This record gives sequence, structure tokens and C-alpha cells, in this order.
Amino acid sequence: MKTFDLLESEVRVYCRDFPVVFEKAVGSKLFDEQGREYIDFFSGAGTVNYGHNNPRLKKRMIEYLEADQITHGLDMATTAKREFLERFNSVILAARGLSYKVQFCGPTGANAVEAALKLARKVTGRKTVVFFMNAYHGLSLGSLSVTGNSSKRAAAGVPLHYTMPMPFDGDLGPGLDTLSYFEAFLENTGSGMEIPAAVIVETIQAEGGVKVASFEWLRRLEEITARYGILLIVDDIQVGCGRTGPFFSFEQVGIHPDMICLSKSISGYGLPMALLLISPERDLWHPGDHTGTFRGNNLAFVAASEALAYWEDNAFSESVIEKAGLATRLLNEITARFPEAHASVRGRGLIQGLVVGVPGLAQLVGNIAFEQGLIIETSGAKNEVLKILPPLVISREELEEGIVRIAESLEVGLTRIDMKSTAAGLA
Ligand code: PMP
Repeated sequence: MKTFDLLESEVRVYCRDFPVVFEKAVGSKLFDEQGREYIDFFSGAGTVNYGHNNPRLKKRMIEYLEADQITHGLDMATTAKREFLERFNSVILAARGLSYKVQFCGPTGANAVEAALKLARKVTGRKTVVFFMNAYHGLSLGSLSVTGNSSKRAAAGVPLHYTMPMPFDGDLGPGLDTLSYFEAFLENTGSGMEIPAAVIVETIQAEGGVKVASFEWLRRLEEITARYGILLIVDDIQVGCGRTGPFFSFEQVGIHPDMICLSKSISGYGLPMALLLISPERDLWHPGDHTGTFRGNNLAFVAASEALAYWEDNAFSESVIEKAGLATRLLNEITARFPEAHASVRGRGLIQGLVVGVPGLAQLVGNIAFEQGLIIETSGAKNEVLKILPPLVISREELEEGIVRIAESLEVGLTRIDMKSTAAGLA
């Protein structure tokens, strides 16, 4: 790691958690330069849902490159973009009875969030955007202003204006309806605040610790926002593109957001690409209002069009739900086997969280798991949740093997952690 320590900025982070030099990746596995194999329960934070170097996508991209087709295109019309737009419209939107205009944003998730915030303010003429505690929407100034994380916000260096946090589903404890608080705030002029322009929400707070909003809560959120003319933005950047089973994470909920942010796995191959889906009547942009050089990654469009083949019938979605059932069962077995870890399981589809009640233990287990050949990240305000986020194409055997490695790492972790000093801090 000498080169990186010497030459790369201190800002680097994942290479500190996984301190080897990676060389190759296939399907659900990564390989370091020594040829050591790792099962991937991280998927580039949800970016390679269809597996590393997916052969079908790779083949299409190689053909495209060899034919000297367009790689960079600003937002010019290209054959690759047309094919993507038509296929996305028919395979994803029309097939679900949805109608959205597609905005091609700069290539990161944060870019899609920035576009959504700006458009919501333009459409409503209001300024404030409501976000939820522990939300993660990106780290550029606008997206950071709706991210609920104290250390990340502190790094901004300037005040983060015109946003307001509200408690997420469950944040006030079991049985307490957090939306009643939001409703009271809107109803009561005593709050003294203007009606917000928009609410931005993740249906599952992935970075926030795999916290799952109930369908009921999301439906009520939609009802409240509609009642006050507040736009509803769903950030499906990490849990969209099939992560929970259906293409969008809110499909079974039955809500119709005004805007949807997509990125990460939309290109299917790990290539940078982001979209903002805009309900047609909200598409009040003027030409060039929100532009940028890298909004036309045509190679990503080619991969993205090919990835839509997974959505032409229900087989892929059903396989995700089926494997999710297996993951939940095996993770619940772990919690039963190690009661001293005070662990519990939460999640939906192939985003599952193992919430570890002993402070510091989840992080330790993640480190041990890496030594045992498993790449897994922790999330949550105190890094208390091991986030299971494999490629959706993972085989049952690889999924089982990865979870076995978690169990083994937990067993070792429990022998290493000082239970006495942590007992006081049990969650
Ligand atoms: N929204 C969500 C829900 C995310 O998980 C992320 C990235 N983890 C982002 C936005 C920001 O995406 P990016 O890092 O590509 O800017």
C-alpha cells in the first residue's frame, strides 16, 4: 500500500478498510494482486448489482467500442442514448404504468440529488427541503445539506442552509409515529417556518444503518406531502435497480414520487451514470438550466440498455427475493447462535443489516471477515450494522459461504472484544 500512502490524498477511505491492492473481479468475487479471492458483500456500495464484469454487458460494450461509436456526447442525441431512453421507457416505466421524463445528470449520485433539490426549489418557488435523520444523499454541498451525519456535515466548512431534519420511521422508538411530528410542524403556524419545497427520502436508509421505512409510513408521507403541495423525492440510488427485488424500492408501496434519483447500478457495469426521473408536469427546466460536461457517458448507456434485459420478465426479481429469504434465515440463525452479540436482523431484499448490540463489535467483525476473504461494510451512526449487499446475481452457494464467514468472524470477534468494558454501552 506504500504508493497509496505516499501519493494519494489522506481523504481515501475504503482502501483503509480493505488494505490490499485489487486486480480482478468476476461476478461476486474480487481478487487481489496476490491472487487471493474475496466474496463481495459490498458491490461497490450497490454499483455492481449485475455482478463484476458481467459478460453480457461486457460483450455489448466491446462491440460498441470496436465500432468507434460515440463515447462522450455532452447531452447530444446519440444512437446509444436513444436506445437507452426507449428501452428504459418500455421495459421499466411503461411496464409499471409510470410516466417520467429522464434528466441525464452529471455521473454521480450526488449530481442527481443536486438536480432534484434545484428543480424542486424552481418548481415550488420555496427554499427549504426536509430530509430525515441519518439520511445519506451525497457529500457535495447541496446533497450534504440533506445528509444527516454530524461529522460529514462538519466537514462542509460553511453553514448548510435551507434544509431541515425530521425523524425517520422508528426514530422516536417503537409505536411512536414520527410523521405526526412532521404533520404538527406543518399544521401549526407556531413553527414559524415556510412550507417546504420538497421532502427527500430513502425507503431504506442504507448508509444510515439499513433502516427500513414501513410501507404504511411511506404512504402517509406521500399523503402529507401531496396535501401541502410539497414535492416528494425518492432517492433510490442505493436501493433501486432491483436491490429489494422489484426495480424500484417503492413499487410494492404504491407511491408515485414527483422525482426519483437513480445512479450506482443504473449503468449495470460500475460505469458512472446518474438519472433524475421527473414527473412530466414538474419538468420546468429551461434549456441549459442545469448542464455539465459528463452527462453523456454513452458507454454507460450501452451497458445500461443491455442490463435492462434482466427486467424483461419477473425471473430476476423473483430470484432476488428468493435469495433474500435465504439470507434473512441464515442471519437470524447467527443472532440465535450468538446471544452475547445482542444482534438483530433488518432489511428488505438483498440489503440486509446485522445490527450488533456490542459497541465496536460490528467494525471488528468486518475487519476479521476481510482477513477471512469477505468484503463487507459497516453502516449506521455508530458503525453498529454490518451491511450485507452482495451483487444480485450472487449464487446461493456464495451467499451461504459469505454468511458463514460472518458467523466465523463474529465468533472470533467475541473472543477478542473486551466484553466488560463494552457491557455498559450495550445497545
Ligand atoms: N444517495 C444514496 C442513497 C447513496 O447511497 C449515495 C452513495 N452512497 C449517494 C446518494 C451519493 O452517491 P455518490 O457517492 O455517487 O455521489
